[in-house]
Amino acid sequence: MFRIGFDVGGTNIAAGLLNESLDIVQRRNVPFSNGKGGEYIASVLAQLVRDLTGAQCIGAKELECIGVAVPGSIDRRGEFVIDAYNLQFHNVPLRSQLQVYFPEVPVFLANDANAAALAELHKGAFAGCKTAVLMTLGTGVGGGIILNGKMFNGGNGNGVELGHSILSHNGELCSCGVHGCVEAYCTASWFVRQGRKAVVEYKNSMIYTSARGSMDNVTAKLVVDCAKEGDHIALDIFDRYVDALGSAVTSMVNILDPEVIALGGGVSLAGDFLFEPLRENVRKKVFFPAFGRIVPAQTGNDAGVIGAAMLKVNAE
Ligand SMILES: [Zn+2]
Repeated sequence: MFRIGFDVGGTNIAAGLLNESLDIVQRRNVPFSNGKGGEYIASVLAQLVRDLTGAQCIGAKELECIGVAVPGSIDRRGEFVIDAYNLQFHNVPLRSQLQVYFPEVPVFLANDANAAALAELHKGAFAGCKTAVLMTLGTGVGGGIILNGKMFNGGNGNGVELGHSILSHNGELCSCGVHGCVEAYCTASWFVRQGRKAVVEYKNSMIYTSARGSMDNVTAKLVVDCAKEGDHIALDIFDRYVDALGSAVTSMVNILDPEVIALGGGVSLAGDFLFEPLRENVRKKVFFPAFGRIVPAQTGNDAGVIGAAMLKVNAE
């Protein structure tokens, strides 16, 4: 049997057909025009199901399930996308809108960050774990929790918002309107903001030189690369980042005592340069003398597709 997973982003849909070993044997990546509503997206997904199964020369009877990961909140029964601001979706019954095309194949919906945690459980850093936490460090901070070997969707079905747990009481303003969230400190965007400040304030810094004096050229990677080269200004930014992320990770460890914490997203690509000081930072703050491993996430850009394909297994 095969499974299909979709990762619906703001302007792009990633689709994959997975075999029983959870290898993606067929994949598609299609841009779509936003704002046309659920029925339109469902029709695009349905066409992608036909493309994927056709390319593999299989019929719908050989599909065990179809899963869809979306960047938004899902109702507790998994029927509606309650809010997905990137998609302009509000109370969209996407599950049934897709189900009508394939009445005989079970269809599932999930939040994309939760699905990513599920992908790590079945084909990544959480293999064999009962309790694990995924944090993705991109333009925002997303994440998911595995509890008792299942994706944890919150006690009231609201899911989890690790990025909006509070790191600093009355701290920096977050995109959600609250002060001091993890997301205000632990994103790639934070590096960009600090790097831009450095371009203005420190014309002798490597950040200024590498960005050729323009704030527009500053990326998180540029700041991290300057830190790796030993630039003092960039190292100071990097150290402050590690300290903030270390506090966020420490809270996760103290609350859940997970076997593994995996970090994904652009910032995690800094590799050992990030992970080694981060582990040391957590070690200094955490309550427990022995705690779980802190490692890179493994499923990368396929996290949403793989996780979505595993939603039926998670529901069993
Ligand atoms: Zn927030």
